[in-house]
Amino acid sequence: MPRSELLRATDLLVFYENAVAVNNVTLVVRRGEVVGVLGSNGAGKSTLMYALSGLLLERAVREERRGGERITILGTVQYGDEDITTLRPHPRVVRGLVLCPERRRVFAESTVAENLLIGAFRAPRRTIADRLRFVWDLFPDLFDLRSRPAGFLSGGEQQMLAIGRALMAGPTLFLVDEPLLGLSPMVQVRVIAAIREIAQRGTTVLITEQYARPVLPIVDRGYVMEGGSITLSGTGGELMRNPHVRAAYFGA
Ligand code: ATP
Repeated sequence: MPRSELLRATDLLVFYENAVAVNNVTLVVRRGEVVGVLGSNGAGKSTLMYALSGLLLERAVREERRGGERITILGTVQYGDEDITTLRPHPRVVRGLVLCPERRRVFAESTVAENLLIGAFRAPRRTIADRLRFVWDLFPDLFDLRSRPAGFLSGGEQQMLAIGRALMAGPTLFLVDEPLLGLSPMVQVRVIAAIREIAQRGTTVLITEQYARPVLPIVDRGYVMEGGSITLSGTGGELMRNPHVRAAYFGA
């Protein structure tokens, strides 16, 4: 794999029982890039992110053990110099592959500060303090809300907290799954600005979204996903000018 590549998923194929959710996806993320995956509901974005984070593998094993849903994952995932296809989620996090999942799964009964500290499990104390400072800088509102149970936060605040918690794990490659879902346009702008800031501080980002308009301006490259397959790819600018993307995702 070329040195500039941080992640390469090759021919990724995911079935839930006999239904294909991710269909032969090959995707590359280079160091320092912000890469977007655009797609509408059910396009397979979350399945892709779960596959890259290892959570899908874990779920597949769990389901198999209890005789539940049959989840089949094929293809390979290369991260840096390593083939991580069969690696569990935790060792992926240790290597800096960190997912901020869709629908902001924060711990509702824990406070904002506790949620953040949970994200930093086992990091040295000084590292935790540095990361916490970065999160407070990025989202000053969260600092003011630090003692409040996360369940009492607004949707936008919870999304910021979910991003903050993932940052506490120290991502090298930050996987952000649909961070704008259900947020007002004003809050969307703030979340996107934060993601841009995270990237500018040196973290590589892979972001999925159904809202192309706010996301495309911050991506270096993007992929369009439809029915589980990648149907288009290009630079952020190319995708913004593409008539199909404009019609499908800009309403223009
Ligand atoms: P959304 O924006 O709705 O989350 P998405 O692009 O993230 O959409 P996925 O959630 O990955 O898409 O779903 C891809 C396809 O797989 C859809 O057809 C969905 O119904 C199906 N699917 C997702 N999870 C499961 C599951 N556990 N069992 C069966 N089918 C599933």
